[in-house]
Amino acid sequence: MGNVIDIQHLNKEFASGAGTVRILRDVSLQIQAGEFVAMVGPSGSGKSTLINMLTGIDRPTSGDVIVSGTRLNALNENQMARWRGRNIGVIFQFFQLLPTLTLYENVMLPMDFCNTYPVSERKKRALHLLDQVGLADQAHKLPSAVSGGQQQRAAIARALANDPPLIVGDEPTGNLDNKTANQVFEMFGELSRRGKTLVLVTHDRELATKIPRVVRVQDGMIRDA
Ligand code: ADP
Ligand code: MG
Repeated sequence: MGNVIDIQHLNKEFASGAGTVRILRDVSLQIQAGEFVAMVGPSGSGKSTLINMLTGIDRPTSGDVIVSGTRLNALNENQMARWRGRNIGVIFQFFQLLPTLTLYENVMLPMDFCNTYPVSERKKRALHLLDQVGLADQAHKLPSAVSGGQQQRAAIARALANDPPLIVGDEPTGNLDNKTANQVFEMFGELSRRGKTLVLVTHDRELATKIPRVVRVQDGMIRDA
């Protein structure tokens, strides 16, 4: 009870020219509802691989991943995409907004895909979410017409579109200057205060020290610090 994330004996191998490489080794990890968790560790240690198991973007070789009570292994690709859209807000280092859609259209996409809010309410909700991240006046612009920090704030608004209980970010401030990174980080703090569960991969040691729980990944294994 209370676990939003329950990972049990997770292993992940990739096939390589020389044979199989074991990237995650017997990882078990529990994260409770409302926790704010930083995931840190050297480059290549397996952080993104682990995050991709949480979001169902990739699948384990063995072991169980249970998120919000759903055993992800049991879902097919189609079910996974819909489940993810309703249950997890995912934020990437390079924003990954669709370049041909305006910011508010990007924020509407998850609602359209998962059919979570009535069609007549989606635009209003998207504009409201953009307003919350300080982008009310940029809503009708294309991603290429705004700054990196603004794109990442729009990506946060998109991640909140379906009001998911869990927000997962893979180096979400990794491509932002210090000042902008701090502003975006403040936004994550606010989400945490509003009761969201957050798991953020970060290279930024200073930011990591502000996050209540730090999970350290090293050589495909985790140490809770
Ligand atoms: P991190 O995010 O901590 O920098 P990653 O999870 O991206 O680390 O990668 C961990 C290791 O797994 C690296 O050695 C990387 O080269 C390897 N790896 C990641 N994805 C694949 C893949 N699809 N195929 C083969 N090896 C991979
Ligand atoms: Mg990574």
